[in-house]
Amino acid sequence: MSKLNEEITARKTFAIISHPDAGKTTLTEKLLYFGGAIREAGSVKGKKNTKQATSDWMEIEKQRGISVTSSVMEFHYKDHHINILDTPGHEDFSEDTYRTLTAADSATMLIDAAKGVEAQTEKLFKVCSMRGIPIFTFINKMDREVRDPFELMEEMENVLGIRSYPMNWPIGMGQNFYGIYDRHSKKVELFNAENPSHVEVKETTGPDDPILDEFVDPSFLAQFREEMELLDVAGDPYDESKIMEGDLTPVFFGSAVSNFGVQNFLEHFLHFAPSPVGRDSDQGMIEPVQDTFSGFIFKVQANMNPKHRDRIAFLRITSGKYTQGMQVNHVRLNKTMKLAQPTQFLAQDRSIVQEAYAGDIIGLFDPGTFRIGDSLVEKGSFQFAEMPHFSPEHFAAISAKDAMKHKSFEKGLQQLTEEGAIQLFETYNKYPQQQIVGVVGELQFEVLEHRLKNEYKSDIRLEHLPFSIARWVSGDPEELEQFKKRQRNLTTDRDGKIVALFENEFQMNMSKDKYPNLDFHENSYLN
Ligand code: GDP
Repeated sequence: MSKLNEEITARKTFAIISHPDAGKTTLTEKLLYFGGAIREAGSVKGKKNTKQATSDWMEIEKQRGISVTSSVMEFHYKDHHINILDTPGHEDFSEDTYRTLTAADSATMLIDAAKGVEAQTEKLFKVCSMRGIPIFTFINKMDREVRDPFELMEEMENVLGIRSYPMNWPIGMGQNFYGIYDRHSKKVELFNAENPSHVEVKETTGPDDPILDEFVDPSFLAQFREEMELLDVAGDPYDESKIMEGDLTPVFFGSAVSNFGVQNFLEHFLHFAPSPVGRDSDQGMIEPVQDTFSGFIFKVQANMNPKHRDRIAFLRITSGKYTQGMQVNHVRLNKTMKLAQPTQFLAQDRSIVQEAYAGDIIGLFDPGTFRIGDSLVEKGSFQFAEMPHFSPEHFAAISAKDAMKHKSFEKGLQQLTEEGAIQLFETYNKYPQQQIVGVVGELQFEVLEHRLKNEYKSDIRLEHLPFSIARWVSGDPEELEQFKKRQRNLTTDRDGKIVALFENEFQMNMSKDKYPNLDFHENSYLN
């Protein structure tokens, strides 16, 4: 295997998707700990203190102690080079979060075993499943009194539409959590509540092995054996191709805070998770193992220093190798440029990258040249597939308080739209025309107000609107014409596509019934 091939194959780039409080920070910390990227568990939690300046660049973040923007963490484990794409855990996440998922080749879905599938997990899951990437599930907090594992799997199927294959199975839970049984290796990892990081591993010949009677209380053991039988008879068969297509999720049980089941998960995950996969472009599929470098920008983040408007553009390398100072073609601008000093993200520290490979994420210094979706290629001139926009959930009419400041207001608005923090719509067939901002999480309104004031010296007026759904509309041309004439609350997005706003599902369904030959898309792809 060539060095290039070897490097790329060693890479695993994935995102953790979950609802706030499921334990994402805790799990990430344990993963980094295994990789030796952090010295002690607990450092990632430092997000909440100001020392960890990487993502706490804005006052709002500092005040609230949350991370508004998502970042990337890189670590090594055995022969693997792992990139974790972090997604903000707070309820007020942004569209950014969705787009970050386009840079991942697989996802880990983290579920709180007491709570099951929660709202934010469902939203993020949808985006992953739209891309058909493999999804691995870690069911967390087994050291607590939690829900029945079968019930959780059923919920995953009903709510998310994904079937599951438990790779391991818990023996008991909460006060009576005995550990996990690995269905492939038939090994049992025993949980020791007093000393959770000390994991005792027992080889067995299967669930019926009498050795288990020595460690597990008879009633819990009987239940475990019954469950294993049920799984073998009624559970989904193991099917690797279904896993790879995202139709079947391998499920792992554990307790992140006790660092229990995490390594078992990591080892299996690294075995199954795909190495970097290609991305579609206007000239066909671009495969990762190629001599020439290419990549796309999936996220633009304003600089840590609010005095400067410089930004960092996050680029996912799609093919080949990056070397410091290389020349690339910025396809949209049709301009050759030198990639001078990209940074890479080792845990929470930044460092200048000398070289990076397909699958890696690098941060490019951006004086305003990059937009989300931009393609940078070493040779030729192809564009990666368009980056979709997703339906915002909160809307407000926006205007500048001071008409004299109109210019800087427009500029700020444009920049923030390019960064992807907000989406901008214009009313259609309504005069005077009005600008409407749409955001996924309400916090983005505060971010918008704060940044326009501080960076663009522009005070704004926001009038909250009652909509909660946006749909990109396409379909039968005649019906579309009728729709454009008669439908209320129509807007156009930045690309001039027609977007209908609705207050609720009921209202949207009425329109769907009225215009049966139109499609109402949840994102801007229009496919
Ligand atoms: P995030 O919001 O998803 O990043 O969640 P955190 O990692 O901050 O965890 C939320 C809370 O759940 C914290 O108090 C953790 O200590 C706790 N937690 C995380 N994993 C576990 C677990 O396996 N068992 C128990 N009992 N608590 C956990």
